[in-house]
Amino acid sequence: MLRPFIIFSLILFMSFDTLNSEPDKAAKDFAIVIHGGAGWSRNISEAKQNAIQEGLKQALSTGYSILESGGSSLDAIEAAIMILEDNINFNAGKGSVYNSAEKQEMDASIMVGDSQQAGAVASVSRIKNPIKLARYVMENTKHVMMVGEGAEKIAKEGGFELVNPDYFASIENLERLKVTQEKEKLGTVGAVALDQSGTISAGTSTGGMTNKKPGRIGDSPIIGAGTWAQNNVCGVSGTGHGEFFIRYNVAREICARIEYLGQPVEKASSELIQELKDIGADGGVIVLDKNGNVAMVFNTDGMARAYKNSKGDEIVTIY
Ligand code: ASP
Repeated sequence: MLRPFIIFSLILFMSFDTLNSEPDKAAKDFAIVIHGGAGWSRNISEAKQNAIQEGLKQALSTGYSILESGGSSLDAIEAAIMILEDNINFNAGKGSVYNSAEKQEMDASIMVGDSQQAGAVASVSRIKNPIKLARYVMENTKHVMMVGEGAEKIAKEGGFELVNPDYFASIENLERLKVTQEKEKLGTVGAVALDQSGTISAGTSTGGMTNKKPGRIGDSPIIGAGTWAQNNVCGVSGTGHGEFFIRYNVAREICARIEYLGQPVEKASSELIQELKDIGADGGVIVLDKNGNVAMVFNTDGMARAYKNSKGDEIVTIY
């Protein structure tokens, strides 16, 4: 009598289980969100604003086409970030700001949400595309973060071309250092994407803060502070006063609120950014959840940002 009942319950259980494990329709949607820093004042020229928006559009459409053709969110964010790193208008890669010793020291990190694998580099000064090296660290070493010369040695072994530090020289950034020797500026680039398989990836790359002390490392290469990606929850890339982002574990904290409190992405992000404002920290975040819902929140005058999804929504803006 008991046996048919057990078999019946088992079939019932299995069919529920199959239903549950079917990818939900929303997982097929895909989206990418990028930022180019939250340090843009309202005073920048129209020409500069156009150049920033042009750079964002280029990075956005490159990342989006990778997702559209079924590529991974990891490839999409890496490609988008590399475009921003190669663009002198953004504080990452080529456009990295000067530290107080008039040198560039760059930080970057990358994370993929299916395995929660992550890679990061910090204080590198000869790597053209730090985000690419962060991915290399993730995929080819047993480590998460490599710094300075050790990171550059790994790069050589990996066949990366090392550039002369002159590659990063920029009169505009040198003037920025002179003018703002004390009042540091914010920049940074980042991207978060959700691909057709439902995997979320996030990455962040920066020259750090103008006039930072040599050897200072910000939040951008720190997993959980400036970057976070977790499938079925969310992905985050941050920009702003890195010391606060590290102390408040900002990227992970936003995803934790979404995960544990069930907060919508917009609420979790804007509350945290307001909390940062309350303690005197400038900054912003881009966040994408498992269904492609997006938040692009900042507490400064402007954050260069852009978003595009498979439903046809597209935004490119600064203020
Ligand atoms: N978060 C970066 C840092 O502190 C700077 C920025 O985003 O502007 O290094």
